[in-house]
Amino acid sequence: MTGLPNRTLFKEHLERAILYATRHKKMIALLFLDMDRFKNINDTLGHDAGDKLLKEMAERLKTSVRKTDSVSHEGPELAGTVSRLGGDEFTILLSDIVQIQDVSRVARRILESISQPFLLDGHEIVITASIGISIYPNDGADIVHLIKDADTAMYRAKELGKNNFQFYTQSMNDKAFALLVMEGQLYKALEREEFFLHYQPQVDIRTGRIIGVEALVRWQHPELGMVSPASFIPLAEETGLIIPIDEWVLKTACSQNKRWQAAGFPPIKISTNLSAKHFARKNLMEAIAKIVHDTGMDPHYLDLEITESVLVRNVGELIIIFQELKGIGVSLLIDDFGTGYSSLSYLKKFSLDVLKIDQSFVREITTDSGSAAITKTIIEMAHNLNLRALAEGVETEEQFTFLLENECDVFQGYLFSKPQPAEEITRFLRDGKSL
Ligand code: C2E
Ligand code: CA
Ligand code: CA
Repeated sequence: MTGLPNRTLFKEHLERAILYATRHKKMIALLFLDMDRFKNINDTLGHDAGDKLLKEMAERLKTSVRKTDSVSHEGPELAGTVSRLGGDEFTILLSDIVQIQDVSRVARRILESISQPFLLDGHEIVITASIGISIYPNDGADIVHLIKDADTAMYRAKELGKNNFQFYTQSMNDKAFALLVMEGQLYKALEREEFFLHYQPQVDIRTGRIIGVEALVRWQHPELGMVSPASFIPLAEETGLIIPIDEWVLKTACSQNKRWQAAGFPPIKISTNLSAKHFARKNLMEAIAKIVHDTGMDPHYLDLEITESVLVRNVGELIIIFQELKGIGVSLLIDDFGTGYSSLSYLKKFSLDVLKIDQSFVREITTDSGSAAITKTIIEMAHNLNLRALAEGVETEEQFTFLLENECDVFQGYLFSKPQPAEEITRFLRDGKSL
């Protein structure tokens, strides 16, 4: 559409430029440009206008880095190659660099050229962009690192208020900064389909058979690698992204369970985690009901795992939401039970189904008498309230025996299986795997 090289071609260019620079002892600069409010334009003016803008943008970028014969008082002009990586992301590759100041000059010229209003369907649109820059060989020695560093620097430029350029620096690898980069990446992860699910069996303690699986989200990022939910879930909660992520998990998990049922395996339940953030939404119940309905799975096979922190909120409202969920057949499970600080009186107010005893107690039931007493008490209390008790993080035979003797109902943990891809669960179901 823009007539520019795409990602693949760009990588080839970069590869060649590195070879050349190594041989001739030169520097290269990689400029990573991302428009600041492109989505906004697309949403308000439509995709045709967005496309026009991208074409015009490509033209301006090409013009800004075209080699001219004039030698300005600042020194010779640098020539560059512009590529489009996709969406509103462009790269500019500058080779034959003598001094870094020349790179700054090009970056400034690009930002200036972009800042002139664009004319789109009779509207004057003012656009800005943020640029991150990495230098070969100073920053990265290969294309993967050069791209990653330029991308990192670009997020820094955004963080600093957009409409500016930043050179990559080592300190951008700080933990705080890594979080920031991850946030940018997290926004794109859903549309790039980088999430997938693992499932961990929940096993009936007396029969040793699988009665359900918990869906646990995984994020495979092309450069960051496998990112643990322990690090991205809190970030997703902070940014609100947890809502679409959990909805995707719910949809995917219910569809998978429906497939297992359709394949003729004995039906099992599916458990998904629902962040406390959902409870600030209006029509939560409708949203869940619709997703489950669209997958065709009977809601009686769904358990929603929520943490105690949810229960200390607006009690009146919650009672209604819970009743509605029960009304369509969904079960409710309290996750990490015992770690919250809420009052126990809510346990009888809400129509709950399962208490999931937190791993921190289970881990120590055979070594610490306090944890053993708490676990026993939770199981007893659950039964007195007509709830079931599920122990998570069960790793050893000894822990299992303790739970069996104390009449816990269900367990989950490495002793039976780690969280597994769907195909592995299919195998378990086919072979009738039991403890
Ligand atoms: P969680 O809901 O308490 O999940 C249990 C965690 O314990 C999982 O970690 C699981 O892999 C791990 N685990 C299971 N059995 C054992 C065991 O025997 N020993 C040990 N040491 N660990 C065990 P994971 O998958 O890393 O998930 C971490 C947390 O991230 C979850 O804790 C949950 O709070 C959150 N999470 C995961 N998926 C989702 C999701 O789709 N939505 C939301 N909102 N949160 C999620
Ligand atoms: Ca859980
Ligand atoms: Ca848990």
